[in-house]
This record gives sequence, C-alpha cells and structure tokens, in this order.
Amino acid sequence: MSEQNDDREVLVENPFHTARFKPKRKGKKPPKLIAVVHQSGCTGCEVCIAGCPVDSIELVPGPDSSNPGFQQMVEIDIARCIGCQNCSQDCPWETITMYEHNDSFIAWGNETLKSELYITEESLNKALDSENLSLEKPAEESVEEANSES
Ligand code: SF4
Ligand code: SF4
Repeated sequence: MSEQNDDREVLVENPFHTARFKPKRKGKKPPKLIAVVHQSGCTGCEVCIAGCPVDSIELVPGPDSSNPGFQQMVEIDIARCIGCQNCSQDCPWETITMYEHNDSFIAWGNETLKSELYITEESLNKALDSENLSLEKPAEESVEEANSES
C-alpha cells in the first residue's frame, strides 16, 4: 500500500513487520469490502483476531514498552483482508466497519491512531540508514561481463 494520512505523508508497508512473512491475499481482484478498525474505540480485547480466517489483524502495542499489553489496540492489514466481515460482526465494541474497497484507504487514514503495518516513507528511510541497509536489489552482473571474464 502507498497511501496518505491526514498530514499528507506517504505511507508504505513496513518491511520489518512480521506480517510480511504471512501469505499474501490470493486473486488479482481486491475484495469488494475491507475492514477498518476505529482505533479510538478499540479496547485491544483480541476477540476479532481469533475469528479472522486469514490472520490479517495485528496487535499494536501500547505506549509503555515495558508493558506493551496495556492500552494495546489492533489494526487490520488491508492488503491482506478478504472482506469476510467476521471481525465487524464479532467485535463486542462495534469498532470495526466494512468499507467499499476504494473508500477503505481514506477511512483507514481517518480512523488509525497508530500503525506498525504501515509507516511513513521518511521513517522507513531513517531505519534503513541507521542499519546501513537498502531495499534495492544489488545490480546483477551482466551475462556479457560474466562471459568476458571466463
Ligand atoms: S474485537 Fe474490537 S475492541 Fe476487541 S481488539 Fe478487535 S477491534 Fe478492538
Ligand atoms: S473482514 Fe475478515 S479477513 Fe478482513 S480482517 Fe476482518 S476477519 Fe479478517
């Protein structure tokens, strides 16, 4: 995903999140509906996580790193949600809403207080710089060069 939040910052998928190791959504067409959590109403009870058939709901830890379960909430990986509606029906606090696919990105931006699945491009670049990493593939040696050396 590459979207914009209220501050018009470009958001990108966090490549370091463990969710990136989970299977991607199958099929070329996105689902008609996508689930979005209204995080201000989320209690972090985890009920929705248990019912998601594709494991696309992730915990967002609370502000105290020594006690991450306190004030935790959840977010939904909208790149992987299949729109089954289980979570919106299961949430005891009615804080998950299904949106038409094209509306879900704006809703996500309006309703998300804290995300670990999606981060700003700037913070991604800072993280990569601090570890001296790059997401670009190394230039491949051309066949011509390889042949000339043999
Ligand atoms: S079931 Fe509702 S309140 Fe509980 S973690 Fe999920 S979204 Fe939050
Ligand atoms: S709509 Fe279904 S697939 Fe999407 S997050 Fe909710 S439970 Fe998971």
